[in-house]
Amino acid sequence: MASSLEENRSTSEAIAIRCPNTGFPVFTGISATPESFQTSMFKDNSFGCSVCRKSHTWNKRDAFLVPIGKHRDEHFKNRIIVLDGGDFNRCKFEKCEVFLSRGNFSLTNSEFDGCKFRYFGEADVVRNLTLSISRSIRDPSKP
Ligand SMILES: [Zn+2]
Repeated sequence: MASSLEENRSTSEAIAIRCPNTGFPVFTGISATPESFQTSMFKDNSFGCSVCRKSHTWNKRDAFLVPIGKHRDEHFKNRIIVLDGGDFNRCKFEKCEVFLSRGNFSLTNSEFDGCKFRYFGEADVVRNLTLSISRSIRDPSKP
């Protein structure tokens, strides 16, 4: 498959909203291509949230697309990215807001430029552990 470092505009992506209780982007269970999403109407849809376990009702204005599954040689710019469950190879993320709550993703030969990282759940626990380890390694050298 020939692909370039352009934004892939033809594959299906997950429709997500931000969980009102946690701020994490959660999948509504519906997917769409960017083209079909643009022209579709969604009003008062609800789904069981995978993060807070509550039911959320959403409308089109709350929703956005999140790339899921396998991605190769893609350039994501100004997007919300959820790494969980994803497989990204030779991708470039530019000015994206990157969310992760677990470690079940594959990320190879990819680069981040001006991205913000948001850690939740298990990923946040590991991040805090890593930070405290690096602090405790640095501390003994202090006077
Ligand atoms: Zn929720």
